[in-house]
Amino acid sequence: MNSANDLYQTLKNTPTSTRHYTLDDCLKLWPTIQKIQALKQEKNAIILAHSYVHADIVSTVADYVGDSLELSRMAQATQADTIVFSAVRFMAETAKLLNPQKTVLIPSPINGCSLADSITADEVAQLRREYPTSAFVCYINTSAAVKAQCDICVTSSNVYDIVAALPNDDIFFLPDQLMGKNIQAVMAERGVEKTIRTSTGTCYVHEEYTPDMIDYVRDKHPEVMILAHPECHPEITQKCDFVGSTSQMLARVKGTQAPQYFLLTECGLANRLSLERPDKQFIGTCTLCRYMKSNTLDQIVTALTNPKPYQQVTIDPETQAKATACIQRMLDA
Ligand code: SF4
Repeated sequence: MNSANDLYQTLKNTPTSTRHYTLDDCLKLWPTIQKIQALKQEKNAIILAHSYVHADIVSTVADYVGDSLELSRMAQATQADTIVFSAVRFMAETAKLLNPQKTVLIPSPINGCSLADSITADEVAQLRREYPTSAFVCYINTSAAVKAQCDICVTSSNVYDIVAALPNDDIFFLPDQLMGKNIQAVMAERGVEKTIRTSTGTCYVHEEYTPDMIDYVRDKHPEVMILAHPECHPEITQKCDFVGSTSQMLARVKGTQAPQYFLLTECGLANRLSLERPDKQFIGTCTLCRYMKSNTLDQIVTALTNPKPYQQVTIDPETQAKATACIQRMLDA
């Protein structure tokens, strides 16, 4: 990509459900993109971006785009001195846990997550006292302090295999109650006998989907392939053709030949796929995450030049040691 016009050719087909890019927009964005590319060289920095952030980051300055697990592995493998994590805070914290000696920066001040913000470390400590024989399994969408209280971390890519393989009969899964219900359903399907308790968090983006939406889309488009994220309600996932993480959904769409696809997840995934695979047709609605969508190119420039306190990810040594062990058990599984 060498010019604002190249940028426009890349972004002009972005679905208007997220952001519509005109040539004028691209002419304004181009100097900022060039500035970020130069800063990356100067600072030996890489930019990791979640699939849910805007296309002007995903398609231009991001070195790697993926889901939580892919980006965690990339954060662990990088030789860069600085990691800019264009996503939300719990993901940037994960990068810091895996790279304590590196500078990790989070561009946006609106970097929360309705799941990660739903439970505190003190609440987990209290639950551990109430359920002393349970294995505490935390979704990656948790703070470093919560991970430090848990036995093993999981992502939407590996949750079912890791839970099934744990030796414990009692599992306390947190913080996503809907994913917890999906785990219960999948364990029952696999014939794995475990007691699975959950806390009460939800992803406000994925919980919006209702079974009626699926019925409506199937009625209008009988051959559509419907894919859902495991943060959706079990009544949704049981009606879908495929359930998986964003990277698994992406691979499934690329590897199949359906006439249309309906992705029940944040808009960024259909957005990314529309740009990467213009031969595929995406229908139905998607939902926006205000946290992911708050990341901007200008914030990345600020983070790389004169980072504000909220952009610098720091973790105290005790939390660092315990939370890293929790994540490393997942990466080793
Ligand atoms: S989409 Fe949901 S789980 Fe993902 S960052 Fe946004 S609020 Fe959190």
